[in-house]
Amino acid sequence: MSQWVAIIAGLSVAGMVALVCASAAQAYRPVPRLERAVLALSGKHVTVYCRALPKDTDAQSYVVDNAWTIEIQPTFCYALLDRESAVAAEASAILAHEVGHAVRGGCEFAAETYAMTNWTRLYRILGHGTPTLADRALVLTAHDTLPSAYTKGPCR
Ligand SMILES: [Zn+2]
Repeated sequence: MSQWVAIIAGLSVAGMVALVCASAAQAYRPVPRLERAVLALSGKHVTVYCRALPKDTDAQSYVVDNAWTIEIQPTFCYALLDRESAVAAEASAILAHEVGHAVRGGCEFAAETYAMTNWTRLYRILGHGTPTLADRALVLTAHDTLPSAYTKGPCR
């Protein structure tokens, strides 16, 4: 059954906020390893899907259904599961942003602050070890390209 839900756009180059139909999430399988990592990081039980997001948005991830479901673009989702991935740091920051919504609610600034505080811990929980200086620079660069609502607030 199709159902329209409000979706909070995740960390992305443009940081777009969008409304999309999320009912198709039910057709995808959750990723238990990512769910365990989110639980270890935040204490929250959240369902995580690797799912191609709608083409009309450039967001990389979403929180849906009042923050109990997270969807991540397959490219970044698989990077989280691949210890050899060159974009695992960026992917960790993306997932940490959505976890920030699960913990702190809909405010982008609050979620992004959570992400920047916690992504290295999530990266370690997922077995990637300690981020290199290059990893940290990549994440910071992505953060700096976000709209000010993500980086400066305020929360409304
Ligand atoms: Zn967000």
